[in-house]
Amino acid sequence: MNRSGGSSLTPVAERIGVYGGTFDPIHVGHVAAAGAVLRTLGLDRVLLVPAGDPWQKRGRVVATPEQRLEMARLAVEGLDGVEVSDLEVRRGVASVTADTLEDLRAPERELFLILGADAVANMGTWRRLDDTRALATIVVVEREGERAEPPGADWRVEHVPIPRIDVSSTEIRDLIAAGESIDGLVPPTA
Ligand code: ATP
Ligand code: MG
Repeated sequence: MNRSGGSSLTPVAERIGVYGGTFDPIHVGHVAAAGAVLRTLGLDRVLLVPAGDPWQKRGRVVATPEQRLEMARLAVEGLDGVEVSDLEVRRGVASVTADTLEDLRAPERELFLILGADAVANMGTWRRLDDTRALATIVVVEREGERAEPPGADWRVEHVPIPRIDVSSTEIRDLIAAGESIDGLVPPTA
């Protein structure tokens, strides 16, 4: 049977999650969020897209784009349905989400932009917000007690609750700088 459920006349759109971030480094919270969205919304796959030039974090990013990409690849190795895209790293210039969604847009493909509640709260600062709204459904990943909505009206939005995993890349960089262990905070393969 094909993906359209038996008829080749009505193809079912491929549903793809797009999960951007600096991933400096990727951690177990990112991996858990990607897996939860994949399963909860029944997506075909989730693409992790490390930012090439995270313009809002200039001066605070430690690893090179290639290192952040490679850590992400190692972290999701063997995870069915979760992949890493080098689209933004290859582009090199400042990462604008609408540009990335445009690059990924294709006939019979539905895009789901995955964001943590903190990232949604920051959407007001984004470039090309109206284009972003037209290109994707927003998936807000909400850790226990969190709730967030994109700014303004007319967004297509899904909310995916996940258990709280209290870890951030900042915390990991701080632990490494202090010479402390990061066991359990990053996937063992990264
Ligand atoms: P930093 O501390 O450098 O800001 P970070 O851990 O927040 O790093 P980012 O690369 O900034 O990681 O985040 C990418 C995406 O992952 C964002 O949408 C963010 O909301 C989400 N995210 C970050 N940490 C978690 C977590 N522990 N659980 C679920 N989602 C998370
Ligand atoms: Mg962050």
